Amino acid sequence: MELPFAESYRIKMVEPIFRSTREQREQWIKEAHYNLFNLKSEQVYIDLLTDSGTGAMSHNQWAAMMTGDESYAGSSSYYNLKNAIRAILGFEYFLPTHQGRAAENVLFSVLVKPGNVVPGNSHFDTTKGHIEFRNASAIDCTIDEAFDTESLHPFKGNIDLEKLESVYSTYQHDEIPMVIVTLTCNTSGGQPVSMQNLKDVSRLSKKYGIKVVFDSARFAENAWFIKERELGYKEKSIREIVAEMFSYADAMTMSSKKDGIVNIGGFIAMKEEELFQNASVFNIMYEGFNTYGGMAGRDMNALSVGLNEVTDEHYLENRVKQVEYLGNRLMEWGIPVQKPIGGHAVFVDARKFLKQVPKEEYIAQTLAIELYLEAGVRGVEVGTLLADRDPKSGENRFPKLEMLRLAIPRRTYTNNHMDVVAVALKNIFDRREKIVHGFRIEKEAPIMRHFTVELERID
Ligand SMILES: *Cc1c(COP(=O)(O)O)cnc(C)c1O
Repeated sequence: MELPFAESYRIKMVEPIFRSTREQREQWIKEAHYNLFNLKSEQVYIDLLTDSGTGAMSHNQWAAMMTGDESYAGSSSYYNLKNAIRAILGFEYFLPTHQGRAAENVLFSVLVKPGNVVPGNSHFDTTKGHIEFRNASAIDCTIDEAFDTESLHPFKGNIDLEKLESVYSTYQHDEIPMVIVTLTCNTSGGQPVSMQNLKDVSRLSKKYGIKVVFDSARFAENAWFIKERELGYKEKSIREIVAEMFSYADAMTMSSKKDGIVNIGGFIAMKEEELFQNASVFNIMYEGFNTYGGMAGRDMNALSVGLNEVTDEHYLENRVKQVEYLGNRLMEWGIPVQKPIGGHAVFVDARKFLKQVPKEEYIAQTLAIELYLEAGVRGVEVGTLLADRDPKSGENRFPKLEMLRLAIPRRTYTNNHMDVVAVALKNIFDRREKIVHGFRIEKEAPIMRHFTVELERID
């Protein structure tokens, strides 16, 4: 018999988690105004809210924490990180930041002006937030296949080159500061971008003189999918693939809480010295001096080890296979999910799941609350709440996809936990006809409302 697949690590330290009763959860979620972000973590049994900063560090990362250099200027931890970024990602210049959105804040302070347009593939919410906050707009150029959850396109994160070129030819050169390519594309379901697409975007952008910036939170997972799915990359190592990917970028922003496998941190990296100099001014103002920029020395050390570990094939195989395991269990029962299964999360198509809940009543949020009540599993809505209102009209924006995202923290849960999640969703799926109403908003913030929104159940 062929030996089954198993994790290429064993567990050295554990953290207890608790199962609660349905009665407890009904009380807690009501007190949280039906916003899963308002729950206390001990009120959650299996936490799939996000894979951001929630992963387990390796013993080598913990060991590196102990040798962190906390000098204000010129610490060895800064140079460890600089060397890792140069060796693995190929960028000469970099600035540490406290997390990914801070990297966006600093870089966009240099590049984005009011009235600008920034094309990309389904910009991440904080990315879009930082663009719109500067009175500029994000233009989504993702391929149409990304919005059909049944389409088996292997690279649903790809940019549609015709859509991109139409932006390039419609707007003036000085109105387009950059194109942002998100690897993998979180908003469309953790879907990868192909090497060919990166190459084509780079070529087209060069022709129009537009900067290419990669939002790189899950760059290693993207490289894994290129190796698995793209012709000509099977024999290449992940490191070779990563190096080629970044050869097509002028700059990158990074949330190290994802593929840095650390709990906090981020950075900007760039090839041009001039951009580095300009961004340094804002980094010093918003984040900290250039050799720490919002990170402790120990955290920079853990990150430099994390960048090495995340580009290891064994690590990536574990990672992607666990996400796939959960996705396959759901698909076996006919539960509608974004296909193929992405790198960091399973996205349940809530509109197909809860057909009777009207779109004005926040379908994916309704499913997320049901899942919490069923088993204490916390996922997150990626739908109308997340999409915010249109800044001009003040109307709700109904996105093309209404999803419940189950994001899996790195190296944290076992497949037994995945089985609990799968069975909980199956139980809801079996009684889905009975769920006909969702929620209305009681209170919301003007931007990124999903974090703090308060909801009321519609009976
Ligand atoms: C998480 C994330 C960000 C923002 O990073 P934070 O560390 O959460 O501030 C930006 N882009 C993408 C694609 C992300 O996943």
